[in-house]
Amino acid sequence: MNRVIVVGGGLAGLTAAAYLARGGTRVTVVEQSRELGGRARTSIEEGFSFNLGPHAVYLAGAGAAALDELGIPYEGGQPGGGSFVQHQGKLHTLPEGLVSLVSTGLFGLREKMEIASFFTGLQGVDIEPLARVRFADWLAEQMSTTGARGLVTMLARISTYTHPTSDMSAGAAIRQMQLAFQKNVRYVNGGWQTLVEALRRQVEGHGGDIVSGVSVRSLARDSALRGVVLENGETLAADAVILAGSPHMVAQLTGITHWAATRVPVHAACLDVALRHLPHPSRKAAFGLEEPLYASVHSAVANLAPEGSALIHLARYGGLQGREAGAVRLELETLLDQLQPGWRQYVVKTRFLPDLTVSNAAVLASQGGLAARPQVAVPGLQGLFLAGDWIGPEGMIADASFSSGRSAAKLILNQREQQSEAA
Ligand SMILES: Cc1cc2nc3c(=O)[nH]c(=O)nc-3n(C[C@H](O)[C@H](O)[C@H](O)COP(=O)(O)OP(=O)(O)OC[C@H]3O[C@@H](n4cnc5c(N)ncnc54)[C@H](O)[C@@H]3O)c2cc1C
Repeated sequence: MNRVIVVGGGLAGLTAAAYLARGGTRVTVVEQSRELGGRARTSIEEGFSFNLGPHAVYLAGAGAAALDELGIPYEGGQPGGGSFVQHQGKLHTLPEGLVSLVSTGLFGLREKMEIASFFTGLQGVDIEPLARVRFADWLAEQMSTTGARGLVTMLARISTYTHPTSDMSAGAAIRQMQLAFQKNVRYVNGGWQTLVEALRRQVEGHGGDIVSGVSVRSLARDSALRGVVLENGETLAADAVILAGSPHMVAQLTGITHWAATRVPVHAACLDVALRHLPHPSRKAAFGLEEPLYASVHSAVANLAPEGSALIHLARYGGLQGREAGAVRLELETLLDQLQPGWRQYVVKTRFLPDLTVSNAAVLASQGGLAARPQVAVPGLQGLFLAGDWIGPEGMIADASFSSGRSAAKLILNQREQQSEAA
């Protein structure tokens, strides 16, 4: 039979399926939603490409490497310049280089020296011994000034999407900042759905099947894994299954509840704003120093909006955290008042998504950091594999989905090769 079923048609599942199909394996992806892509979906409304909140590809990350390996191009642009820091309620120019750091009034001399030294040493930090060290403890050891700690915390938040950052694995946070500063990020023309569609074409182009709008209800197994059972009771036979969803999905389908009980998801509240005109084109981004806030004009560098108009993503890291949705929305609108005064008269559409799951699991020091995340092969369950943004030792957010999807597929392909050599 030699069929592999992939449960979940997000980036992790589609990446796994693309590698399997290219490797000559019969693969079927089952996605419960009618739309493929999971959290990487983009909806096109009135000519604007709305990602599900702000999405950027880390060009030095595992996702970019997998896309390159699969031959999937993704055009777009890199953000930079025209950025501000919101400090004590007011916007200040973000120092983006040594010259602007020296001249900014945002920090004192000792703070500037600590910030400069952080950037000089960042790429050389050995992250391995820092896997189980809390980011807050590492920061306290490295820096004595409030301003420098605040700026580095802000950068860690932007790079990892995690808030609060204190319990994060210092190794994981630093790795993510290293990636961000090595090659920057890219906002993708047409939105992340273009990546989803390219992966879908790879799967189908190499003979794989995709079934959407159908949920997997359980695994089919007796003494061995036999496949999956769909919501309509039909069994899809397979000798290997990749579960490419959340810890809760894994708990529901396998009965392994440990991960669902212990993983701490990363949330964000997002406001997506489409404008028919951008009042201040040179003002492109703003980040909160004290408050976990983000605003960026994604259409400034990527093709996401009709000519002359603009698409802006705003977010509060951490999501609502017990606050009223209306108060958080107001906070984000106020940040946009500061970045783009007058924006309200040009609104085409706004979309407020108060509680998105950015990642299924924060990378915590207490859980051992990246290297201690669950592995793609489920121990004791022959033929069962996992993929997703909480799986495997490499990358955070979508990089982990790409990386674990690729690893699960490679593991299955290797096993197949060994079996056929033995036969
Ligand atoms: C606001 C926001 C901003 C983000 N920004 C970035 C960013 O800038 N950079 C970055 O790298 N990442 C970013 N991410 C994270 C990135 O979007 C995700 O990590 C990635 O898309 C997750 O892909 P996945 O395939 O692992 O999971 P998902 O996209 O969640 O896919 C899982 C799929 O499984 C399906 N499924 C679940 N249960 C079943 C079942 N029983 N049967 C069939 N199907 C099932 C679901 O419907 C879903 O489609 C962001 C996410 C959000 C929300």
